[in-house]
Amino acid sequence: MEFELNEEQQILREEVRKFLEAEIRPLDDEWGDVEMTADRAREFCKKLIPWGYMGGGVAELGVERDATVGCILNEELARVFPALGGVSGMTSGTAAGISMGGHPEVAARLVEPLRQSDLIGCNAFTEPNAGSDPSGIECRAEKKGDRWIVNGAKAWISNGHIADVAIVLVQTDPSKGAAGFRQLVIDRRESPFESRDTPTIGLRAFPTSELWFNDVEVPEINTIGGWKQGAGGVDPATAFARTLAAIAGVRAGTALMSVGIAQRAFDLALDYVKQRRQFGKEIARHQMVSAMIADMATDIDASRLLCYRALHKRGRPEVEASMAKAFATEAAVRVCSTAMQCMGANGLATENRVERCLRDARMLTIPDGTTQIQKLIVGRALTGMSAIR
Ligand SMILES: Cc1cc2nc3c(=O)[nH]c(=O)nc-3n(C[C@H](O)[C@H](O)[C@H](O)COP(=O)(O)OP(=O)(O)OC[C@H]3O[C@@H](n4cnc5c(N)ncnc54)[C@H](O)[C@@H]3O)c2cc1C
Repeated sequence: MEFELNEEQQILREEVRKFLEAEIRPLDDEWGDVEMTADRAREFCKKLIPWGYMGGGVAELGVERDATVGCILNEELARVFPALGGVSGMTSGTAAGISMGGHPEVAARLVEPLRQSDLIGCNAFTEPNAGSDPSGIECRAEKKGDRWIVNGAKAWISNGHIADVAIVLVQTDPSKGAAGFRQLVIDRRESPFESRDTPTIGLRAFPTSELWFNDVEVPEINTIGGWKQGAGGVDPATAFARTLAAIAGVRAGTALMSVGIAQRAFDLALDYVKQRRQFGKEIARHQMVSAMIADMATDIDASRLLCYRALHKRGRPEVEASMAKAFATEAAVRVCSTAMQCMGANGLATENRVERCLRDARMLTIPDGTTQIQKLIVGRALTGMSAIR
């Protein structure tokens, strides 16, 4: 078992870090804590493409993408501009969803523009009355000829307000239960819908939005599944199961975003405790400050190892991903708060970047299943008994 990055991976990390520090950090300084616009999202995501962030390899270095490369890229971006990690990840995820099960015509029109960041994507399942329990969604689609007529609302949708393309989970026939759900690709240019950003405490440049669909007409070929596309085809009636699988699939990535945020807070605190002097010596020489540094480093290492394990496991690493998500997102909140404590009053100043780390970290214990839901998933797997309902 190998716990260290090999030489090639270390070089990749150094080069990616150099690029992010030079090109992306100034963008985070200026735009990382304000509402994102669609134009900025496209412009910033485009800068990431040669570095492998929108899928594919790292063209800049001629490196193929594998699980470790993905982990390095995502953690490093989260350390510098976490909201941009979210915006780009949602967009490339939307491209992947359409590419896997979309009608060839729809895929030909949308996948490449999403991968090139000419379009921004989102994935919408949560609603005002359906959060942890997405089986309760009420957004309806009724078939009229060769079109779906969509009515309803979605809430807390990452990228929603700036998205050109949304994969939307809708109910077409409540009497069929899970088999009544469908995923529709809604292209805002042909099927306009309303949206607004819901302001939050952190990750302000990664919009979480409400979407409203009032008699929105969507062509039938925009249904995901049922077309000769992707390996073995995708059954449109498995939309609900696919949505749950997609949420599970991104959990460890969200956890890794927390690791990047925590690492940034740790780096700031580490610099500070080595410089700041009280009682005649650097505060790092006081035992309780040293203990705070050790606690933070241990939380970050444990989180990173859980994430790497989940992201390297083949098949469906549901338990590993839930452990990583529950632990790393909560640990990042602890780490960021401790980093502020290390910095005394300076840590509380809004002009000091560390307070944003705490606000950003606090956002991530909720999406892709809350900490409580992750624990219920792990408990269910270990006991064979579900405590969810
Ligand atoms: C930053 C962010 C990004 C998001 N991005 C997206 C997105 O792109 N697309 C999308 O569709 N949604 C997105 N969401 C929504 C997210 O999926 C939901 O917020 C989440 O599933 C929780 O639902 P809720 O907020 O309605 O909380 P609720 O489900 O109302 O839960 C409230 C509290 O009750 C607890 N709880 C609920 N059920 C149980 C239970 N059975 N046992 C124990 N405790 C329970 C929860 O843990 C929580 O503490 C995002 C949310 C955030 C914060």
